[in-house]
Amino acid sequence: MTKSYDIVIKDGTVFDGQQTPRFKADIGIKDGRIALIGSIDASEGERVIDAAGKHVAPGFVDLHTHYDSQVFWDPWCTMSGWHGVTTVVIGNCGFGFAPVRPEDQDRAMLALSRNEAVPLKTMKAGMPWDWETFPEFLDSIDRTPKGVNLMAFVPLSPLYGYVSNIEDAKANRVTDEQLDEMCRLLVEAMEAGACGWSAQLNGEIGNVQLDYDGTPMVTDCMTEREIVAFSRALREVGRGVVQTTGSLDASAIIARESGRPLIWNALLADGALNQHGRGEYTVRDALKQLRYYNEEEGLRIYAQALTTNFVSEFTFEDYNLLDTMVPWKEALLGTVEEKQARLADPERRVALKAIDDERGGLFGAGYVTREIKVNWISSDAPNAQEIKERYEGFTLGEIADREGKHPIDAMLDIAVSGGLKVGFATKLLETPPEAMKEIATSPMALPGVSDGGAHTKFVTTARYPTELLSLWVREHGIMSLEEAHWRLSGYPAMAAGLRDRGVLREGAPADVVVYDYERLDSGPQERLWDYPAGEMRLVQKAVGYEHTIVNGVETFVGTDCTDATPGKLLRHGSD
Ligand SMILES: [Zn+2]
Repeated sequence: MTKSYDIVIKDGTVFDGQQTPRFKADIGIKDGRIALIGSIDASEGERVIDAAGKHVAPGFVDLHTHYDSQVFWDPWCTMSGWHGVTTVVIGNCGFGFAPVRPEDQDRAMLALSRNEAVPLKTMKAGMPWDWETFPEFLDSIDRTPKGVNLMAFVPLSPLYGYVSNIEDAKANRVTDEQLDEMCRLLVEAMEAGACGWSAQLNGEIGNVQLDYDGTPMVTDCMTEREIVAFSRALREVGRGVVQTTGSLDASAIIARESGRPLIWNALLADGALNQHGRGEYTVRDALKQLRYYNEEEGLRIYAQALTTNFVSEFTFEDYNLLDTMVPWKEALLGTVEEKQARLADPERRVALKAIDDERGGLFGAGYVTREIKVNWISSDAPNAQEIKERYEGFTLGEIADREGKHPIDAMLDIAVSGGLKVGFATKLLETPPEAMKEIATSPMALPGVSDGGAHTKFVTTARYPTELLSLWVREHGIMSLEEAHWRLSGYPAMAAGLRDRGVLREGAPADVVVYDYERLDSGPQERLWDYPAGEMRLVQKAVGYEHTIVNGVETFVGTDCTDATPGKLLRHGSD
């Protein structure tokens, strides 16, 4: 006898992602969709998941990722797949790989190797490059096995490279004819299923996500003429959302001219730092502006809020988070050998030490240099054994005192002698719960910023759904669970134009997580050498997720991947 349901989730406490107060129910899944929420006999399920005492919620929607390359070698887009995320959005910040002509592929990867710190060797080894245009890129993703659903922005930077070339476009901007052509390509990409366009608008000063040569990205210096043209093109399409990183003022122009919703990055808690550095506004100014735009002017501007505490481990091989400081930026351009030579140069050291003395730490008020720890050394590094014995586990302050050196000299001497394959760890920067509550519960806030697939050797913020539920809600009570699930699923799905997703509702696609609230937590930071070309990445796994279901198929049972790839490309926000 055929059963009524492929899966029955029995006796769980349901959070539906729409802020409905929690209720106990069974969920029947059939043919990839939620067929029934109510009372279901276990005998009606091909498979029964006992969710007694567990929470059942919609899978999380991660709007800010850079899995544009990783999806080709990691169908589950981990870390996100490990943290209950069932839908990711790629193409953020204006960075990406289409449209790109074959002869410009290296240039496109070089940019991502710095602004998002994805190792170049990994991208070269892991991407099929079986596209040139944006529609062809989407087709390639469509046929690639996926363990999560995926939606894509049209990043604007590649469009500049395609109609001009990046260097010319930076030097001379683009002609009206070229701009028209870019808008035509943008509309073509939207028609193929993109969810909108994205751009980094960081300007020239204090920009922490630079091109490979240390200059701003081509979108950072967009003129109002260009911004308005792309906005009006989207207005013509009448669909889609814009994602920006950087200026809120420029973002408001885009929202106004396009008439479309916009997701602005990033809203930072008072005193918080992230990989993008300090915010350009005080949190109160940003919240006030956002309220005005949304409640008075009639613009729809959401804010991606940074809702994780910040902690970083880094080597100097692929590091870009010091790019706001010119002597550091210059030191860390080029090949590993070039970086090594510059970091060893005594004259440059003078400048680096002066910055450190002046700012009281490597990142201003953030990390105190003396507290940074020598955390690990790659076994294939030169002098690995000696560095391990003499330095591993000690802080730079301790080493500096022991050797009678400046902490910057202590750090760079060790880094250089280890061929830059030495990992340094910062202390966890904890945001006070009150400051986190202020941003995370503000009307337009979407929790994040994941940055999954980016800054792969030093940032693990893709754990944000787990941290919101376990640390900020369970430990600090900054919002109700009903609100947290809405902000993790229903609200971002709405903001990005994802129809159907992000909620538990009869008829909706069955993207579901079943988790143990008491046990839920992020795992420790660990290093995995599982990237193409043998590159290392820093990750945090999760505990407490018992079942992750994408389109009605389990992708993870506990932390074990089932190898299933039920994820879909969501063209126009839907399948
Ligand atoms: Zn980004």
